[in-house]
Amino acid sequence: MPPIAASCCCDVIVIGAGPAGTAAASVLARAGRQTLILARTGQERPRPRETAPVALASLLAAIGVAGTDLARFAQPCPWRGEDAHPACLQIDRAGLSVALLAAAKRAGALVIPARASAIRFETAQDPVHVTLEDGRVLAAAMLIDASGARQVIRRALRLHRRRLSPPLLAWRGEVAAALEGARFETLSDGWLFLAGADGRTSWTSLRHSAGPAPVEGRDILPPTAWDVGWYLVRPVAGPDWRLAGEAGGRLDPAWGQGLCFAVASGIAAARSSLATQATPAAAALLAATYDGWFADRLLEAAATLRTRYAAAGIALGLPPQQAGRPLRRREQAHG
Ligand SMILES: Cc1cc2nc3c(=O)[nH]c(=O)nc-3n(C[C@H](O)[C@H](O)[C@H](O)COP(=O)(O)OP(=O)(O)OC[C@H]3O[C@@H](n4cnc5c(N)ncnc54)[C@H](O)[C@@H]3O)c2cc1C
Repeated sequence: MPPIAASCCCDVIVIGAGPAGTAAASVLARAGRQTLILARTGQERPRPRETAPVALASLLAAIGVAGTDLARFAQPCPWRGEDAHPACLQIDRAGLSVALLAAAKRAGALVIPARASAIRFETAQDPVHVTLEDGRVLAAAMLIDASGARQVIRRALRLHRRRLSPPLLAWRGEVAAALEGARFETLSDGWLFLAGADGRTSWTSLRHSAGPAPVEGRDILPPTAWDVGWYLVRPVAGPDWRLAGEAGGRLDPAWGQGLCFAVASGIAAARSSLATQATPAAAALLAATYDGWFADRLLEAAATLRTRYAAAGIALGLPPQQAGRPLRRREQAHG
């Protein structure tokens, strides 16, 4: 990797090398934009495999991850539940990260293994400055925040985070067990999702009572707790910045679309950034359009998930009207 200067200016900086950030960087670099992606490394907790709809494969193909690359981290997983649910994919998260980062590099993005520690916005005409943990300062015309739950831009700009659920804690782990396929079980106080292949079963549970649901088998990855409360940041776009993936919004894992939404919003944020750089006069309109797309998708999904919980008799203390209510005036005007 060529060294980067102490102070360097490029077209776009992407914060975070998760699914949202790497997808955004691939699209931008393929379009010929000088793209830097800040990839914090070595601090991730090992994750059990996650499950995604097969539509994830089409999204990944659009950013150059398909065929043999895809087969290294994704495998088909039949649905074993009573409801007629289509087959899904089991995703090895470490393998997904490697493939997505490689695709971004192939497209021409420069990967900087560093954490963004501060950002500074001046006027929409000036570059955005990002300070790295080692003191280097980078500048770019556009910034995409894909830092997940860290939410670097939300904190810097003190954006409003609208909570769409009470605090929710999920547990997950991986055990040695012979289940083949995926199954969702309603528990008396929540739910348990199991997905297995090759003698390993990944499980996630969300319950009212503290602690994970008991899952039989020898632990491969011991149970760990994750904050999975629902939220939406308002707004998720400004003239020279976009939020993508969990940096902008999140629902709990029963949504089943977290990876798809991260990749889709990374792609959409990148396209919106490209359009803004091509037509600076339309910057405010393009930001509002992306913001509306993101918020509509997340709020619609929240309403659907709430309905599914109600139908299954799972009470998580979700307030009745919140997910579907229109935005308050203050939220629309923000930014
Ligand atoms: C318990 C649990 C189970 C889940 N199960 C599923 C499932 O089965 N299917 C599914 O589709 N989804 C699932 N999800 C959701 C899915 O994992 C997320 O939606 C997805 O990871 C979001 O991607 P992202 O790119 O937005 O964020 P992340 O994957 O969190 O990536 C953000 C990246 O930014 C980096 N970063 C943070 N701060 C900085 C900084 N300052 N500078 C540089 N880099 C930074 C982080 O290190 C990280 O690499 C689950 C989530 C949880 C918690």
